[in-house]
Amino acid sequence: MKLEDLYREVIMEHYKNPLNKGLTDDTRYSKVNLLNPSCGDDVTIQVLVEENTIKDVRHDGHGCSICCSSASVMSNALINKSVKDAEDIIKEYLVMLTGQPYNEEILTGEPIAYIGVSRFPARIRCASIAWKAMEEAIQEAINER
Ligand code: ZN
Repeated sequence: MKLEDLYREVIMEHYKNPLNKGLTDDTRYSKVNLLNPSCGDDVTIQVLVEENTIKDVRHDGHGCSICCSSASVMSNALINKSVKDAEDIIKEYLVMLTGQPYNEEILTGEPIAYIGVSRFPARIRCASIAWKAMEEAIQEAINER
């Protein structure tokens, strides 16, 4: 199997069977909604930060397969990480999407499946929107203390 096929499979699997999907009424979560008008993507991310750790991530919304699947991949990659590690992983993921060399020790596993998106500038926002919403939600969670 070619690497690109494997990546496509990761993306389709998370699109069909998203993890951590559905929002919670729990007011301890910080919530951020972002839109991508050029594609119609609409993503809401909720994060629960306790003891400097990402205890839980929820997501909901609608959009293209890249956008919806990346929210699932992001949630799975960042739950139980420290705030610092999560911020580093987000940063490296966004670097990867620009096509620049990223830190392969920090960014590992399923998020790498989106590396090919860097060749399609119109789709970069699709792959980054959930991660950027997460970045903002973490900031909100920290600032609320
Ligand atoms: Zn999209």
